[in-house]
Amino acid sequence: MFDRASVVTPGGVNSPVRAFRAVGGTPRFMVSSTGPYLTDADGREYVDLVCSWGPMILGHSHPEVIAAVQEAVSRGTSFGTPGEGEVALAEEIVARIEPVEQVRLVSSGTEATMSAIRLARGFTGRAKVVKFAGCYHGHVDALLAAAGSGLATFGLPDTPGVTGATAGDTVVLPYNDLDAVRAAFAAHPGEIACVITEASPGNMGVVPPAEGFNAGLKELCAADGALFISDEVMTGFRTSKAGWYGIDGVRPDLMTFGKVMGGGFPAAAFGGRADVMAHLAPAGPVYQAGTLSGNPVATAAGLAQLRLLDDAAYAKIDAVSAELRSLVGDAFTKEGVAHTVSSASNMFSVFFTDQPVRNYDDAKKQEAFRFTAFFHSMLEQGVYLPPSAFESWFVSTAHDERAVERIAAALPAAARAASEATA
Ligand SMILES: *Cc1c(COP(=O)(O)O)cnc(C)c1O
Repeated sequence: MFDRASVVTPGGVNSPVRAFRAVGGTPRFMVSSTGPYLTDADGREYVDLVCSWGPMILGHSHPEVIAAVQEAVSRGTSFGTPGEGEVALAEEIVARIEPVEQVRLVSSGTEATMSAIRLARGFTGRAKVVKFAGCYHGHVDALLAAAGSGLATFGLPDTPGVTGATAGDTVVLPYNDLDAVRAAFAAHPGEIACVITEASPGNMGVVPPAEGFNAGLKELCAADGALFISDEVMTGFRTSKAGWYGIDGVRPDLMTFGKVMGGGFPAAAFGGRADVMAHLAPAGPVYQAGTLSGNPVATAAGLAQLRLLDDAAYAKIDAVSAELRSLVGDAFTKEGVAHTVSSASNMFSVFFTDQPVRNYDDAKKQEAFRFTAFFHSMLEQGVYLPPSAFESWFVSTAHDERAVERIAAALPAAARAASEATA
C-alpha cells in the first residue's frame, strides 16, 4: 500500500509525520479501529497512543458518536446554508469556555489560527505577530517561521514557498521566556498585533508553561494593546472540560480549537471577545469563509463527543495517563535510561534527557535516537506510539486495564532497546 501511495502522493502520505521519516521503516496503513485499538491492513492490532493526534478522546468508533453521525448523514451531508447542528456546537463551546463569547466554525486547526491572526491584524491595524519556537499552529505561512532562538529573532521562513515578506512580520521567541517577550514589545511598541502561543505546548513534545508565563503574556499584550491568542487546538476539550483555560484560568482575547471538538471529523473553530469577533464578515470588514464550515455531519460528531465528555470522563483519562506515565518512567529507570516523563494534565511525552526541558532548544538536546529504538520495539509488540520523539502521546476513556496491561507488557523490552541504542 505504501508503494502504491508513494506513486500518486508525495512521500506516500497526506500529512508528513505519518510517513515515519523521523523513525524510519514503513508506515502502517490502518483499516479499522475500535476503542483503544487500531487494526492494520495485515490484520495486526495495536493499542493506539496517538488517538488520531488527539481527537479520539472517547476511543475509536464510540457507539454514541457513530450513531450521531449516522443520524446526521441520513438527513444529508452538506447544505451550504445555516443549520441547527452548527448552532448547537457553538452553544456548547460558548457554554464550556467562558472567555469565548462568540465563535466561528471552520474545518481545520490551520484555518482557525490563520483566521484568528487575520482578525487580530484587522482589529488592531498592526502587522507583527509574536510566536514561540517549537509551538506549532498548523501550516499557516506566517507561522511556519519557527527557526531561530535567542532574543527577538526575526522570523526567517523555514520552508521554501513562504516568502520573506510573509515571514518578515513574524517575531519568533524562545518559549517560557517572558524577558524575551518584554524586549520584543520594547523593540516594536504599537506594532505587534498579537502574541500567539499553544496554551500548553504539545508539538515539541509536552512542554508546559512555567508558572505565570501565560498570565505574563496576557499582561504584556494588554499593556501594549496587542491581542493574546491562546491556541487550544490540541489542549481544548482534552486537558479539562474547558481545556487549558480550565486549568490556568488566564483569559485570552481569542482562542482556537480543533481536534477533539470535531469528534474525528474536520471541524475546528476560533472565538473569543465579542467586540473583536464583531469585526468578522459579515458583521464586520475582516473576511473569512468556508464552503464546508459548520458541516452538519462534522458538527453532529463533535457535539456528540463533547456531550459525553463530563467530569467522570476526564477523571478516567487523567487516571490512565498517570498510570501510563508511571509505568513508562519505571521501565526506563530500571534500564538506567536518562529520561524525563513530561506532562500537562493528561497529555504526556518522554524526553531522553534528565535535564529540565523548558523550551524547544532544551527539547532538541535529548537523545532522540533512543526514541527510534523504543518506538520500533513498541510497534513490533503491538503498541502504536507517535512516530517522533517530539509529539505528545494521547489516551482516551477507552484505554482500559486490558489495553494498559498490553502496554505494560511491551515496555521492558522497549526500554532495553532504548538503553542499547547508539546514535
Ligand atoms: C494540530 C494543531 C494545529 C493544526 O490543526 P490542523 O487541523 O492539523 O490544521 C494547530 N495548532 C495546534 C496547537 C495543533 O496541535
